[in-house]
Amino acid sequence: MSSHPAPKDADQRRAVRPVICYDPATLPDPGLAALRAARAGARKVGELRVPPREGRCFGVPQGQFFRITSIEGPQVGDLNLWSAADPSERFYSGKTRALHGTHLGPGDRMWSSFPHLRPMATVTEDTLDWYGIDAFGGSVHDVIGTRCDPYSHHLLSGGDNYHHCCHSNLTNALAKHLGQSPRQAEPLVHDVLNVFMCTGFTRDTGQYFMKASPVRPGDYIEFFAEIDLIGGLSACPGGDCSTQHSSDAAACHPLLVEIFAPAKPPANRPPPAPSGYVWP
Ligand SMILES: [Zn+2]
Repeated sequence: MSSHPAPKDADQRRAVRPVICYDPATLPDPGLAALRAARAGARKVGELRVPPREGRCFGVPQGQFFRITSIEGPQVGDLNLWSAADPSERFYSGKTRALHGTHLGPGDRMWSSFPHLRPMATVTEDTLDWYGIDAFGGSVHDVIGTRCDPYSHHLLSGGDNYHHCCHSNLTNALAKHLGQSPRQAEPLVHDVLNVFMCTGFTRDTGQYFMKASPVRPGDYIEFFAEIDLIGGLSACPGGDCSTQHSSDAAACHPLLVEIFAPAKPPANRPPPAPSGYVWP
């Protein structure tokens, strides 16, 4: 509710046309055709299942592909990425959102944190790319959410503790992967790519919303690893995120991660160098 009167030219000010902040045409070409050609000759070299309401980490060498598949029932996954060489270089959801928009699809990249700012992974396939943007402004695979976490839950629920939030699952999985304690690993956990989650902002109040994911068993999203990666994936306790999360109430299902190695690497594609920006 506003407490200040609108100026005489309020309508005129509101009518100013928006400008896209970052022109995607100025970004490096993701080279999707070459990636898909390399993927056509790839063989499967590994897989793991992420159990419901848990998290797991996995390694993907530069030049390989990883696929996340919904199996058994509709399920949302919270994805973190770290550079295997230096996990302090990690996925930067906010800048990825500014560069590509609120939801990712084929050809979009997952960019890393400063001072690196380079593509960590490129989305190569998405069986939900038919969904588009629905009448509520919702779409799939967002970089607008953060991850469900025990601190917000504690704040909002009146002190109830819940230990299988995606933040907790990712922290425990990374701690195990790095041989650290959860307290040591926790600061490396970051805002996620919400795989399969259907989200948006309400048009009238600008509030973050979720709705039942359109994902069905067999749907997948696939990525090319631009650098050596550690991936972290949590099978969200919200299940398909149609009603609630941060509890054991929702029906939850496992997620499948598969790794594929191409027979021949994609042509002319060295690992991206960290940002060339130099401080004065
Ligand atoms: Zn979650």
